[in-house]
Amino acid sequence: MVNNKIEASLLKLKERWKIDENVESILLGKRKAKDIQVEVNGVIFHIPMLDNLYILWKCLWPECHNCCKNQARLPLTIVDIVNISKCLNIKKNELVSKECRIAEWEEQEPFGPSVMITMPVLKRSESESNIDDGKPIKCRFLNEKGYCKLHPSRPGCCKLYPFTSWITLQNNRPIINATFQFDGNCPGFYATSSIEEMKSILEEYAKIIIEYNNAVSRTTREGYASITIIE
Ligand code: SF4
Ligand code: SF4
Repeated sequence: MVNNKIEASLLKLKERWKIDENVESILLGKRKAKDIQVEVNGVIFHIPMLDNLYILWKCLWPECHNCCKNQARLPLTIVDIVNISKCLNIKKNELVSKECRIAEWEEQEPFGPSVMITMPVLKRSESESNIDDGKPIKCRFLNEKGYCKLHPSRPGCCKLYPFTSWITLQNNRPIINATFQFDGNCPGFYATSSIEEMKSILEEYAKIIIEYNNAVSRTTREGYASITIIE
């Protein structure tokens, strides 16, 4: 079944960008990609493959800042709370009580179970409330030149995009997995025959993904967030 939200985002995206037809067919659920697993520096990346073509990604910033213009939610880890409170020159508890709200949402892990997440989320607009949760809106920290006003302290979830990551257990050992978030907001995906051209990006993101997972674990250990498997 086609996800209407993705279809609507994709239609908007196509007003400005040329979208690879292989990528479009996967996003619209018209064709199912094979899952190719590639280990890079301790992270298992699940890369989609269609007709011997890898679906890869390259960020088109500064021409594009579509992810910041259509931001659905900004969950903060304890590392983000420390860094952003320094950046905004306010105390950590002030950041959480005034600039964040506590959100609870269900997330389907790719290739895994559903989880219920409760975390502080940074308000994308000053008036953001719980009814805006998950709805794409322009982030208040995006300036008119396409820069993030919080940079280099932007939230870990922004650094992670367009990847999403989750943990599986193998012989009781946690394995970090990652794949693309196909939310229809990023024009950076393309199809190609060689995965080599994305090697340096995967290496860079493996580090970001490991740091993000460590930060999320610390956030739950310190009681700022909870993540529960619900099926
Ligand atoms: S939407 Fe994709 S291409 Fe555009 S800035 Fe964000 S990550 Fe880069
Ligand atoms: S916090 Fe910065 S990087 Fe994240 S969505 Fe807002 S403008 Fe973009």
